[in-house]
Amino acid sequence: MKKIYDIVIIGSGPAGISAAIYAARASLSVIIIEQAVYGGKLSKTYEIENYPGVERISGVELAQKFVDQVKNFNVEIVTGSVNKLEKNEYIHVYTSNGKVFKAKNVIVATGADENKLELENADSFTGRGISYCAVCDGFFYRKKDVVVIGGGNSALEEALYLASICNSVTIIIRRDVFRADKTVVDKILNNPKIKVIYKSLPNRLIIEDDILKGLEIINVDNKEVQTISCAGIFPYIGQSANTSFLDSSILDEKGYIITNPDMSTAIEGIYAAGDVIAKQLRQVVTASNDGAIAANTIINKTH
Ligand code: FAD
Repeated sequence: MKKIYDIVIIGSGPAGISAAIYAARASLSVIIIEQAVYGGKLSKTYEIENYPGVERISGVELAQKFVDQVKNFNVEIVTGSVNKLEKNEYIHVYTSNGKVFKAKNVIVATGADENKLELENADSFTGRGISYCAVCDGFFYRKKDVVVIGGGNSALEEALYLASICNSVTIIIRRDVFRADKTVVDKILNNPKIKVIYKSLPNRLIIEDDILKGLEIINVDNKEVQTISCAGIFPYIGQSANTSFLDSSILDEKGYIITNPDMSTAIEGIYAAGDVIAKQLRQVVTASNDGAIAANTIINKTH
């Protein structure tokens, strides 16, 4: 007979890992299903310096610590992309590689992905000029000129990382102020390799002989256009929740999961945690917080 897990956790980022640690320590049977790199988005993040107890650490290293810790509690992590949940007596969790897991409870901790740049040819230049992960691809642009699009924390942190290896970084932001922490903004404004162009939007990719050569931008006020020569473009223009496999009745208008304070959703047995839920602050510390609460709610109703 197929094993019935107390909890199937979808996603191995900080939310999923925290939930698994709490559940495993309470002796619940738990499995994590992850479609990509174990550790979640952290493994694509340059540096973390706002997680309590760890002054400064690379994202990859912190992700590895999360994963090592959960493995020490004998939590199973398997590779698979969940594409369907079906609820009858138990919840059946289906993956695109043909596996089905049976659970009493599911915690959805699938995070959110970067929005794609919506310019002509942007899709075909992803991976050869356009990248959504500076830590993964920055090396290919070493000593070259690059553009970062966006004015939030993620954009600015990635711009700082790129400035450490690239010749120059030009940040394009739509407004005349950043939406980021003051410490990060100060570092940006004091970095001689970084230039900021305010009140502008990306308008057109400049392509020559099938190679990305630059970006045309347009000023939102006077509509003037200018071209920036660059070898790489890194857009950080918001995120979308990874919820396509879920019933829309538990999602808000933007696709994020609506949760109660105990991380339950409107569907009995389905919980959610981390960047995938509707909330104000999407960070490692808040994702871990949500994961712990979700697990604790299930622990309390199980014991
Ligand atoms: P994630 O870490 O996104 O993990 C979700 C996981 O679910 C992923 O591994 C994904 O592959 C998996 N998944 C998705 N769909 C499926 C599916 N259908 N089936 C199976 N698996 C699935 N936070 C900070 O606190 N400090 C920082 O300095 C900081 N810097 C950042 C810099 C950048 C560039 C970015 C992009 C983010 C940064 N963050 C930072 C935010 C932080 O990374 C996130 O808030 C945190 O990782 C969210 O954790 P999570 O577990 O909710 O989701």
